[in-house]
Amino acid sequence: MLEIRGLNAWYGASHVLHGVSLSVAEGEIVALVGRNGAGKTTTIRSVMGLMPKAAGEVRFAGTDLMALPAHARFRLGLAYVPEERRIVPGLTVAENLRLGLVASPGRSGERAAIDRIAATFPRLAERLGQQGSTLSGGEQQMLAIARAMMAEPAMILLDEPSEGIMPVLVEEMGVLFRRLRDEGVTLLLVEQNVEWALRLADRAVIIDQGEVVHESSAAALLADQAIQERYCAV
Ligand code: ATP
Repeated sequence: MLEIRGLNAWYGASHVLHGVSLSVAEGEIVALVGRNGAGKTTTIRSVMGLMPKAAGEVRFAGTDLMALPAHARFRLGLAYVPEERRIVPGLTVAENLRLGLVASPGRSGERAAIDRIAATFPRLAERLGQQGSTLSGGEQQMLAIARAMMAEPAMILLDEPSEGIMPVLVEEMGVLFRRLRDEGVTLLLVEQNVEWALRLADRAVIIDQGEVVHESSAAALLADQAIQERYCAV
């Protein structure tokens, strides 16, 4: 579903991705892990068209993304949940959810989309009229994920969704991601919580200093403490 070949990316003169290649098959969860500063966020931002300079081949469902501006990439059925969540202060939970339909209108209409999200996230359903910025950190993360799901994307790229969230909600999130995968949604999950991510994922990719250094099943990496310590230790 997503094919990245020879991706390079720069922040100004700083060359941070050096020929990253990885692929994510339809209906698969892939965990993208590695140390701080390894290039995980930059990889996702490059896919979404949010880097000032990137080069290489990125195809989504056969379409060449590099030729398209960011807004057109969202319309192809790609969604992105950034690390900083970006819940809009001053807007209610329902209004924040509706923003998920701005970049891509979805298939079922706004009312049906909100009903579907409310059934999946009862905690948000009880708070549709509450200001988004007054939610707890975990609830805000759920809102950011729910907003990304509004347009029923075929693939969601998530940047450290478990960060700063209490363990019970992290486990709930894991159940949600598995359910999405079982419904056919493809997920690329950047995570520092390596063990959790590997328990969830089908495959794992490690990136280090802007290069892919390991690719295997998630189970194989979970069992390989030596590689985890070499490339993922914080
Ligand atoms: P983290 O888990 O810390 O977010 P990461 O693997 O996602 O790490 P990136 O954020 O992709 O890493 O960063 C890759 C490299 O690019 C790092 O060396 C980082 O310092 C650099 N970098 C990131 N953002 C910028 C920026 N806005 N300007 C300049 N350099 C940046």
